[in-house]
Amino acid sequence: MLKTAFRRSLLAAALVLTPLAAQAAEKPKVVASFSILGDLVHQIAGDDVDLTVLVGPDGDAHTYEPTPADAKALGAADVVVVNGLGLEGFMPRLLSASGFKGREIVASEGVTPRLFTPEEAAHEEAEEAEAGHDHADHDHDHDHDAAHAGHDHGPQDPHAWQSLSNGVIYARNILAGLSAADPDHAAEYKTRADALIATMETLDKTLKAEFAAIPEERRRIVTSHDAFGYFGQAYGIEFIAPQGMSTESEASAADVAAIVRQIRDEHISALFVENITDPRLIEQIARETGLKAGGELFSDALSPPSGPAATYIAMFENNSKKLLAALAATN
Ligand SMILES: [Zn+2]
Repeated sequence: MLKTAFRRSLLAAALVLTPLAAQAAEKPKVVASFSILGDLVHQIAGDDVDLTVLVGPDGDAHTYEPTPADAKALGAADVVVVNGLGLEGFMPRLLSASGFKGREIVASEGVTPRLFTPEEAAHEEAEEAEAGHDHADHDHDHDHDAAHAGHDHGPQDPHAWQSLSNGVIYARNILAGLSAADPDHAAEYKTRADALIATMETLDKTLKAEFAAIPEERRRIVTSHDAFGYFGQAYGIEFIAPQGMSTESEASAADVAAIVRQIRDEHISALFVENITDPRLIEQIARETGLKAGGELFSDALSPPSGPAATYIAMFENNSKKLLAALAATN
């Protein structure tokens, strides 16, 4: 009799638990702020999460304007993955507008931030002013305040994903956050993250050796916007993105003349355009200097799935192949 009552209560418990079990089977909803983080989440989470990416392929996360659909996706999300370091200027307002109550993963947490040089910082500010942005995004940033107080360093460079050793940190942060949000799949997340990290570490070693084989004085490149500082630090390349090169509207005749002079004086090896910026200025400078345009680098966004940089790893392989070819061809 006691046994029957026990059985009955077990049965009742099972009935009560059914709706919860059904809920648990639903995939966690994850929002990633831009395409590069979207790929890292996808590599680690596979089909175990329901993933939404806000700024898609070839998109610019610096100047992105969120849509009502973005706010809706975020409001329903369990996890949001952001870069941090001031990249996503749109995010603080979107987070509060959406009513997001989930877990926030800051992918860049723990990287050693690269500080913009004062020239780069001044340029960024001029750009922001021109784009009509206020400085609300940066108000929490003590380095930025310090720069205003006269110290000789600027705000932090957000493009930390452009070194594979930072990519490993991003992957570990995403793994830790996803595992905490969805412990049932922690083992799968770890297996996939370990494989991704191993690929990153192998490629990092290969690229370090390949770039080191090129004489140092040849390793100088002009790009349209200053997104490759971390890449340059990691692989020993000097990337130059002179003032006035980020947007078409800022390129005066004097800017172009200064760049042309710098290219001739400093023996720069090649010019590259980026997938998120207007290529016309670089093309014009290539014509005026006779310096070859080495093609398109992927800086702040992946290519569409059918393109040459559809994943984070493919982006690195593609960028490096083009850079190595351009540097090796220098006479
Ligand atoms: Zn950028």
